[in-house]
Amino acid sequence: VVSEIIEKRFKSEGVNVLTNHTATEFVVKDGKKYLLVEAQGKTIEVEFDEILIAVGRSPNISGFGVEELGIELRANKTIAANEYLQTNYPNIFVCGDVTGPFQLTHTAAHQAWYCAVNGLFGKFKKFRVDYSVIPWATYSDPEVASVGLNETRAMAEGIEYEITTYGIDDLDRAIADSEDHGVVRVLTKPGTDKILGATIVGQHASDLIVEFIAGMKHGFGLNKILGTIHIYPTMAEANKYLAGNWKKKQTSENVFKWLARFHSWER
Ligand SMILES: Cc1cc2nc3c(=O)[nH]c(=O)nc-3n(C[C@H](O)[C@H](O)[C@H](O)COP(=O)(O)OP(=O)(O)OC[C@H]3O[C@@H](n4cnc5c(N)ncnc54)[C@H](O)[C@@H]3O)c2cc1C
Repeated sequence: VVSEIIEKRFKSEGVNVLTNHTATEFVVKDGKKYLLVEAQGKTIEVEFDEILIAVGRSPNISGFGVEELGIELRANKTIAANEYLQTNYPNIFVCGDVTGPFQLTHTAAHQAWYCAVNGLFGKFKKFRVDYSVIPWATYSDPEVASVGLNETRAMAEGIEYEITTYGIDDLDRAIADSEDHGVVRVLTKPGTDKILGATIVGQHASDLIVEFIAGMKHGFGLNKILGTIHIYPTMAEANKYLAGNWKKKQTSENVFKWLARFHSWER
């Protein structure tokens, strides 16, 4: 977004910078903060509130014997591990950011279970680490939480899907809390209630999504979520209403026509 603003500002000054510009310093004038950006000999001032620096992270692999033992690394300097999370020394296990591929606390904890159990009981039975259902959240306002496939990935991978949405602006609890914005979007396998992925944007999205994570992990679908009593009025009801929207789509108009005829005959 910042790049777009900078591009536009430079264009208005007759400089076509594309991405080739440099932020040189920032200054404070009359209590306002400005970033000085330079391109092709021209400098512009871009006003800002705060600067967020996201430089990424790299694994810390020095100081605990990795080099001395010759523990194998991948090209990106993470510690290489097999599907049981063993390094090239089968009695040395690795979990968390230092091996990846995810950089999340809950995936580090998930991997730790495999390291502990495989380390203690691997002689008898080893467990392959399961990365099939990995959720994540971004704690922005509103929150964004996601698990499994989203539309972009499904299209890129050529996976068939049916999409169902529910607008959180309709939800009583969200209205009562003045948080009536956001959406629940769920991808299902066409013709079934099997959940392929879910994305929620809204207040407490990272809590709400757990029902879909559990469904994906343990093989229950939208019918089961629809058949579960959700406490009124809660944000979690959004999941049930999403399932209701999905169910409505599955029922053909002919069924409703037939039912209407049946009930008028009964009356
Ligand atoms: C700013 C920020 C925000 C984040 N927010 C989230 C979030 O909202 N949700 C989420 O899931 N994840 C988040 N993460 C990622 C999360 O923190 C990591 O994925 C998680 O901490 C990984 O756990 P770990 O045990 O692998 O590594 P770490 O938590 O990094 O633990 C490694 C430990 O090893 C110690 N250590 C290093 N070298 C040595 C040595 N030579 N000898 C002894 N000890 C050593 C370190 O001091 C550290 O205590 C965030 C990360 C950052 C940086």
